[in-house]
Amino acid sequence: MSAVWIDKEIDTPAQERVKEPKIGRETHKLEKRLCRQVGQAIIDFNMIEEGDRVMVCVSGGKDSFGLLDILLKLQSRAPVKFELVAVNLDQKQPGFPDHILPEYLKQLGVPFHIETQDTYSIVKKVVPEGKTMCSLCSRLRRGILYRVADELKITKIALGHHRDDMLQTFFLNMFFGGKLKGMPPKLVSDDGGHIVIRPLANVAEKDLVRWAAHRQFPIIPCSLCGSQENLQRQQIGNMLRDWEKKHPGRIESMFTALQNVVPSHLMDRKRHNFTDIKTTGVPNPEGDKMFDAEEFARPSLPALQMVQI
Ligand code: SF4
Repeated sequence: MSAVWIDKEIDTPAQERVKEPKIGRETHKLEKRLCRQVGQAIIDFNMIEEGDRVMVCVSGGKDSFGLLDILLKLQSRAPVKFELVAVNLDQKQPGFPDHILPEYLKQLGVPFHIETQDTYSIVKKVVPEGKTMCSLCSRLRRGILYRVADELKITKIALGHHRDDMLQTFFLNMFFGGKLKGMPPKLVSDDGGHIVIRPLANVAEKDLVRWAAHRQFPIIPCSLCGSQENLQRQQIGNMLRDWEKKHPGRIESMFTALQNVVPSHLMDRKRHNFTDIKTTGVPNPEGDKMFDAEEFARPSLPALQMVQI
């Protein structure tokens, strides 16, 4: 089979191009980058396999619209056959425009399911006024989505978290949770019954903002529930943006670091057996350099692979 996940020579199919607005050179580059980065994440973490039925969780925000859009593009050129089912959970927040997603998804021609569950009323009833509603709300949402995934015979649940979400989570865990722990590109769900994937793992948020503007996604505002976005996450987001402004390339370097963990140089006794360390007599550049200062050769990002089947 000559189809590939990542192929710089493959352009958007002609029929697809007809439906899209005319795109300039920069937007064309952006589209190629998005497809390449998503394809790379799928390969690196073996996210999508032959016969998968992937549930794409679409909230109405730019990230999930972008995820669905790019997965649809890749579906036609992927080396494996898989299905996509867009799923939206209408939580009955006041003012939620429930016609927008069905209309958009119908127009797109993608199989979809809208699950309507009034979790908003439950959360409002249970959580005292002034307290944050997010933790109960997201727990309820998770449970519903797991059930829907079972009903739809889904094999993978795809979420629209991107590179910046993953870095923010890493710093949130470090600053407020005392853990070196990020947001995984692929993991079994907490109920043990589903595989969750994040195909936008390599994608920068600013690219998704540009792509959403170009594609004119019918974005639904995310403030309908009246709950404030997590303040700590906002602060971390501002910190990262500030760093990137002052030190361009820092975000990329930190993101690469998440893929280059050296347990022997940390202090987690569960990850490295410090107790039984023995000399080897074999020189090792990764060994301890005593008083020498660390050299910081810029790590290269994992090389792009061309996978042909
Ligand atoms: S912001 Fe609103 S919809 Fe989102 S998790 Fe919090 S309460 Fe739920």
